[in-house]
Amino acid sequence: MKAIVVSRFGGPEVLEYKEIAKPEVQKDSVLIAVKAAGVNPVDTYIRAGSFGYQKSLPFVPGIDGAGIVEEVGEGVSKFSKGQRVFFQGVMGSYAEYIVCPESHVFALPPSLSFSQGAAIGSPYATAYHGLFQCAKAKAGQSVLVHGASGGVGIAAVQFAKSYGLSILATVGTQQGRELVLGMGAEKVFNHYEEGYVEQILDYTKNQGVEIILEMLANKNLEKDLSLVADRGKIVVIGSRGRIEIDPRNILRKEARLIGVNLFLATPTQRKSIFSAIEAGLMNNTLRPVIRAEIPLEKASLAHEMILKPGAAGKIILVT
Ligand code: NAP
Repeated sequence: MKAIVVSRFGGPEVLEYKEIAKPEVQKDSVLIAVKAAGVNPVDTYIRAGSFGYQKSLPFVPGIDGAGIVEEVGEGVSKFSKGQRVFFQGVMGSYAEYIVCPESHVFALPPSLSFSQGAAIGSPYATAYHGLFQCAKAKAGQSVLVHGASGGVGIAAVQFAKSYGLSILATVGTQQGRELVLGMGAEKVFNHYEEGYVEQILDYTKNQGVEIILEMLANKNLEKDLSLVADRGKIVVIGSRGRIEIDPRNILRKEARLIGVNLFLATPTQRKSIFSAIEAGLMNNTLRPVIRAEIPLEKASLAHEMILKPGAAGKIILVT
């Protein structure tokens, strides 16, 4: 089969399109013919060797995807050959085939394309885990999605809308603004604009926001401490470096800083996460948005694109 292979850590150029052996189905696992693979920022950190968890070389990257069940292993009861599915959290999705444990595979509703299926896994799971399992969000609360135009941000806006939170959001482009307003955000700000923090504070009549979902904490954590309401929560989902903050702002507001790590979600939490995703896909409150579909062999282009500004949905690799 064809796959993208990483044989040494480095820039996007280390992603090689190669012929490798097709994997064989295992007990309690499903062999999937991958039609689309979701590109996540974490794929670039793992490729570069800069992620805390180091993959042994060589490996096929990618942890999300969607496709058709080709074969089921002994003990598999939920799936059968020919079924449309999506999967999350299994390394090796940048390939024509992947073997996934049954527990990480989910039925893909007929109304969704394979690309939309590949856009669900990690972004929607992270948004749910951050908003509801880590921050314990409740209907009626206010949330600021600080970085709402990307995979996790869009998922967070859609979950927050369907659960009755009031949503403020930041984006970097007009396209992102229209997208996020269209999904039900009450007010959208531009995180590259001088004075946007003051604009948000003005909008909240200086009360701040009860929950902040932060996609780039190394740039924004200190700003978040001025934007969060008294006894509010700052939920750190993404960060790409260090930042200096004034801890006095934490105690002054009795603010809580909460880290999110989807890889630490327990089996019980994962069960809730994917039940909520399944329900939201069925009642149309969750609709994955695709920004670009790129042929699998051009994975390096996708890795260059995902770290640049201008997000407006997911970048997907198609086989
Ligand atoms: P993405 O699709 O690439 O989106 C990145 C988002 O960050 C875009 O909305 C982008 O907006 C926004 N952004 C850029 N500059 C910003 C700034 N100065 N302030 C606020 N937002 C800014 O990535 P993603 O999949 O949504 O993931 C977001 C982050 O969460 C990444 O760092 C990722 O590694 C991390 N993540 C963490 C976990 C976890 O378990 N903790 C799981 C999944 C993802 P514009 O492009 O419009 O400027």
